[in-house]
Amino acid sequence: MSDTLADCIEVLAPQLTAWRRDFHRYPEQGWTEFRTAAIIAERLDDLGWTVTAGAEVVDAAARMGVPDEATLSAAFERARAAGVSEAWLDRFAGGLTGVVAMLDSGRPGPTLGIRVDLDALPIQEARDAVHRPAGEGFVSCHAGSMHACGHDGHAAIGLGLAEVLAADRDRLVGRVKLIFQPAEEGVRGAAALAEAGVVDDVDRFVAVHLGLGCPSGTVVCGCDGFLATSKLDVRFDGRSAHAGGQPEAGRNALLAAAFAVTGLHAIAPHSLGASRLNVGRLQAGTARNAIADRAELQIETRGTTTAIDDYVRARAVQVIQGAADAQQVTAEITCVGRAVECLASPDWVARIVEVVAGLPGIEQVIDRDRQPRGSEDATTLMARVQARGGWATYMIVGSDLAAGHHQPDFDIDESRLPVAVRILAEIALAADS
Ligand SMILES: [Zn+2]
Repeated sequence: MSDTLADCIEVLAPQLTAWRRDFHRYPEQGWTEFRTAAIIAERLDDLGWTVTAGAEVVDAAARMGVPDEATLSAAFERARAAGVSEAWLDRFAGGLTGVVAMLDSGRPGPTLGIRVDLDALPIQEARDAVHRPAGEGFVSCHAGSMHACGHDGHAAIGLGLAEVLAADRDRLVGRVKLIFQPAEEGVRGAAALAEAGVVDDVDRFVAVHLGLGCPSGTVVCGCDGFLATSKLDVRFDGRSAHAGGQPEAGRNALLAAAFAVTGLHAIAPHSLGASRLNVGRLQAGTARNAIADRAELQIETRGTTTAIDDYVRARAVQVIQGAADAQQVTAEITCVGRAVECLASPDWVARIVEVVAGLPGIEQVIDRDRQPRGSEDATTLMARVQARGGWATYMIVGSDLAAGHHQPDFDIDESRLPVAVRILAEIALAADS
């Protein structure tokens, strides 16, 4: 343990809160994190990190669930109007909102990759004064967008880590790579970073999240509960006709969607593991007396393993195609998000447990947590690191929450920000071989 580091983080604590509140106030959804990314890139550059950004770290073609052009450019202009660095902002044009920064100690040692995420959710934030962001003046000023998962805190943790590691550079070995990932919500972003090769030189990898059901004072060093998942948008196109005058001329997209929904929920489970399928949205038709020529579904599949998710997804595609054929309509299926299975590397978790135990602000260290959770596309980066012989884990820094994740009155415990920076800095400083 380092007194210098502890002092440095104590001094930094108010700044961590200020960053978090600033990001909270200006939430940006996946692939539109223009302001957030520009602020981060500029700060890291000032601190002496080697910053790569935009097309250097995001494979544009591997992005999933990218908003339409109008949404991207409106968000881009909004960031420009907010007065961020134009030079950095331009690097993110078109929604290439990733930032990766490297600090090379110049001494031999492993490359440690630390991943935080940046994006907000399509949620209207609570406005009543008991909701602290509203009561204390940092509530979202972007209607319909909110940091309701803690990624504002994650971005602040990343900046704080950049600060303390730059100050403690003389004690580092190897290299530290800070990865600021866009579009985690909807599991849309990690594949684009993986395809750009962002973690291909990473020997040790940590992704981190606040909260996730763990109270303040706990730390999970290896979270294994994430499900593999696929997010599919389906569009049925048929032919409209007068429902009374000439119904036989129509090709009913609504009916295809309805049959598909029934069939999707009847997909047999798999004997090798649990699965999930949900149709979360169905939209079809225009008028009571017209055969519907258009229907859209938003569905997701999940599995305890990638193979189970692939099984459910393949069956889902067959069901959708069958329903379309039966109504003589076409079905177009687009994958708008995906995450694979991944378990934390045991040796890495064991080492992190040793580093974390006894740090201030931590009362309980949990080595592995296998509780079933949602999905997280950090697994895509973890799996890539492991496939190349590296070690990877997903950590949870517990945080008391005002309300559950993705709720309008969600709020984190800001006292956890310096704790998270301390944990990650100690892991970086403990790196040897
Ligand atoms: Zn999250």
